[in-house]
Amino acid sequence: MNAIDYLRISLIDRCNFQCQYCMPEGADLTYALQQDWLTRAELRALLQQVFIPVGFTRFRLTGGEPLLRPDVVEIVADIANLPETQDLAMTTNAFLLAKKATALWQAGLRRLNISLDSLDPDTFQSIVGGRGKSRWYDVWEGIQAAHQIGFTPLKLNVVVIPGVNDGEILDLAALTLEREWHVRFIEFMPIGNGDLFDDRGWLPSETLRQQIRDRWGLAAGTVRGNGPADVFQIPGAKGTLGFISQMSECFCDRCNRMRLSADGWLRPCLLNETGQINLREQLRSGVSMADLRAQVAKLVDAKPEVNFKMRESGTTGAYSRTMSQIGG
Ligand code: SAM
Ligand code: SF4
Repeated sequence: MNAIDYLRISLIDRCNFQCQYCMPEGADLTYALQQDWLTRAELRALLQQVFIPVGFTRFRLTGGEPLLRPDVVEIVADIANLPETQDLAMTTNAFLLAKKATALWQAGLRRLNISLDSLDPDTFQSIVGGRGKSRWYDVWEGIQAAHQIGFTPLKLNVVVIPGVNDGEILDLAALTLEREWHVRFIEFMPIGNGDLFDDRGWLPSETLRQQIRDRWGLAAGTVRGNGPADVFQIPGAKGTLGFISQMSECFCDRCNRMRLSADGWLRPCLLNETGQINLREQLRSGVSMADLRAQVAKLVDAKPEVNFKMRESGTTGAYSRTMSQIGG
C-alpha cells in the first residue's frame, strides 16, 4: 500500500482566469465565504498538530489561483520553515507570478507547476478568457521570471483538448529540447465543463506519445515530484515530458494524496466524497486537535477503499464540480 503523505492544500477557490475546461462561463460557481477560509494560523496549527503527526510531509499549494490569496507568501514561509516539511510546491496559472516570484523564493518555495495550455496568445486567451491583450504575455513573463530565479523542477501543465490545442503538441514538447523544463500533458477529465467534454472528447496520452516518437524518438526519463505522471524524454533534450493519463489508465492504486479545500474540507479522493470531513468547522467549534488527528488518521487508513469505489463508479457525476472547487 502507498504511504499517504502528500497533501494538496487549496488556498482559495476563486480564480482570475476562467478556463473553458475548468470554470466555463455561466457555470454555477458557488464560492466559499472569505470568513470560511482556513486562516494562516489555522492552517499552520492543522499542519503541525494534525497532518504532520499523522505522516504528511509533502505539500502543494493550489486553488483556484493560489497567488490571489493575500497572505500566500506568509503561508509559504510558514510551511517551508516547518522542520518536518520534505517538499513544498505550488500549482499556479502564473498570471501574477512575475510580481511575486522573488518573494515566494525568499519565503522558501522552490518548485512550481504552471498551467500553459498554448503557445499561441490568441488560442491561450480563448481558453482562459478575458478581453484585450492576451494574458499569455503575463504568464510567459511569469515563467521566464521563475526560470531566471531558479525554481526547479519547473513543470508546465497542458490540458489537451481536441480541436483546441492538440495541434500544438510538438511545439509544446519542443520547449524541453533546450531548457530544463518539464512539460506535462494531462488528459482532459469530465470535471467542470461536461458540455465541452461531451463535445470535444479527450485524447489518450499514447496518441501524443506516438506523435512525439515519430518526430524525435522517446526514451524513459525521470523528474523529482510526487505526481502520477509517466515520465519520458526526447533523446538529448534538457527537460522531460510527463503524461498524466487518468482517463486511459486508472492510477488510483498509486495515489499518495489527500486534498484540503480552502474552507477546510479534507477529501481523500478527487472524485469520491466518501468520508470527507470539515476540519475548519470542527476546529472553530472547539473539537480538540487530538480528536481531529484521530479522524484524519482514520481517513488515511480508509483511503484504499475509497479509491476502489471511485474506480468502480468511473467519472459519473463529476461534471458538476470543478477542479478549482475541489482544490486541483
Ligand atoms: N489555477 C492553478 C492552475 O491552473 O494551475 C491551480 C489550480 S488548477 C484547478 C490545477 C490543475 O487542474 C491545472 O493544471 C488545470 O489545468 C487542471 N484542470 C482543471 N480542470 C481540469 C479538467 N477538467 N481536466 C484536466 N485537468 C484539469
Ligand atoms: Fe483558474 Fe486554474 Fe481553473 Fe484555469 S484551471 S480556471 S487557472 S483554477
